[in-house]
Amino acid sequence: MAKSQVAAEACDNCGRSIGRLETPHVHGDHVVCSECHTRLAPQTVSYATPPQYSRPPVGAVIPRVQTVEATSKIWKALQALGVLAILVGVVILIVGIQTDAGPGVIAPGALLFVFGFIGYLVGRICGWWFNG
Ligand SMILES: [Zn+2]
Repeated sequence: MAKSQVAAEACDNCGRSIGRLETPHVHGDHVVCSECHTRLAPQTVSYATPPQYSRPPVGAVIPRVQTVEATSKIWKALQALGVLAILVGVVILIVGIQTDAGPGVIAPGALLFVFGFIGYLVGRICGWWFNG
């Protein structure tokens, strides 16, 4: 088998064989000779994606959506308020019991503790429910 026949390639456009010393050019998914490549180059290649459509413009800023952060902050605030209410309620309860202050002080302390606990739980559950 002759070496020249192995290397020879035919131009998909004009059909002439591309010489061994010639560089075969690729136009789309076709192998063409350099003459045809120069002629075909300005034409739009339908099966290849034009680069201007696949790339975003240089320097384009994509704005980030932060709605998830804003929602979780509400529940975090509720949790923080709940913890604060529990702490204040516990302090009032301890002080009220130790000083024998009576139900006028112990009842609000107990209420603060209970509502703080509920608020904290709601904040935890909703934060988990809406954010995963
Ligand atoms: Zn050709």
